[in-house]
Amino acid sequence: MAPQTKRPRSSSSSQAETSNKYPRTNPKPTPHDAIWFDDGSIVLATDVHLYRAHKSILAQYFTVFKDMFDMPTGEEGFGDGGSVSAERWDGLLLVRMAGDSDEDVYHLLMTLYDREYHQKDKPTTLPIILALLNLGTKYDIAAIRREVIEHLSIYYPSEYENWFSDYQPPLLKEDQGTPKDANFQLLAAARRCNAGSILPMLFYSCAIEPLDKIFESMNLLDIKDFKNLIDGRENMLARWVSIFGKTVLRPEDKCQSQTCSDARIRMFSHRMYFEVEFPPEIFPLGAYTGALRELGKGEDYKNLCRSCVLKFHSCLPAFMFMFWEALPCIFRLCRWDDLPESIDA
Ligand SMILES: [Zn+2]
Repeated sequence: MAPQTKRPRSSSSSQAETSNKYPRTNPKPTPHDAIWFDDGSIVLATDVHLYRAHKSILAQYFTVFKDMFDMPTGEEGFGDGGSVSAERWDGLLLVRMAGDSDEDVYHLLMTLYDREYHQKDKPTTLPIILALLNLGTKYDIAAIRREVIEHLSIYYPSEYENWFSDYQPPLLKEDQGTPKDANFQLLAAARRCNAGSILPMLFYSCAIEPLDKIFESMNLLDIKDFKNLIDGRENMLARWVSIFGKTVLRPEDKCQSQTCSDARIRMFSHRMYFEVEFPPEIFPLGAYTGALRELGKGEDYKNLCRSCVLKFHSCLPAFMFMFWEALPCIFRLCRWDDLPESIDA
């Protein structure tokens, strides 16, 4: 289902409708230092700042602004049952971005005006990602929503062939201090913005976090998603860790080498022995990435016969594809093909 497109509120909107997410720091919004173009033709107001921008630029991206500007002169309306008188700032139309945080509006305008502010092949910051996802969805700005979801899809892929790509640049700038709950904030935002295709890998990324971290972040998720996250984690630990060990190590199979057979049994036992905490490499994707060397002690790996090592490598892709197909169901999501389209949902 497509998210509901929201509209900026006119000056007649109640102040009580504005967001409480960010506390007011100014009793009266003041002009922003960076986004204040002398030749701007419209002023956007948040609780904190005034942004002087261009109608032509905004109309290019915001359908709601285009509709507003197309209305008869003398009145600016918002389609909520009729036109309303618009507030003016120094003769310019002033639109209050009710319900939007100042930070989100700033990041969105910077993205619209500076082509390098957010690029999907370069590290960015979590607030920028969240702002573009939130407002790109709320105002139905297709280009912004598409770009940010494509960026996230590199790290939370929805295509099997992209699952193992060696993509080097990190999603978030490392010098900006990534919040501990970044995955959980992204999961909550993706759910809120109906970005269905990145949900399975976001669930996975949250589920392999340490349990205390999951509980510390539970307030970010609704209760149903939190339950599905815990259930999915339990499912992976109870079922998929064992499937992986049995598939690649075949502890019940004898091969021509007794040394190899014994080593595989020891490696499987080691695999199934959990400490109190579960490291990420115990879960299927980490297990695949770490391959055999993560499965047991180094000396056991050396004892494997060539035939068993070859079998391991030949059955690993099949295991991973099986897990990939099951991944959405593990977190009680739709099957891959039935998830909402990532871009146009
Ligand atoms: Zn063997």
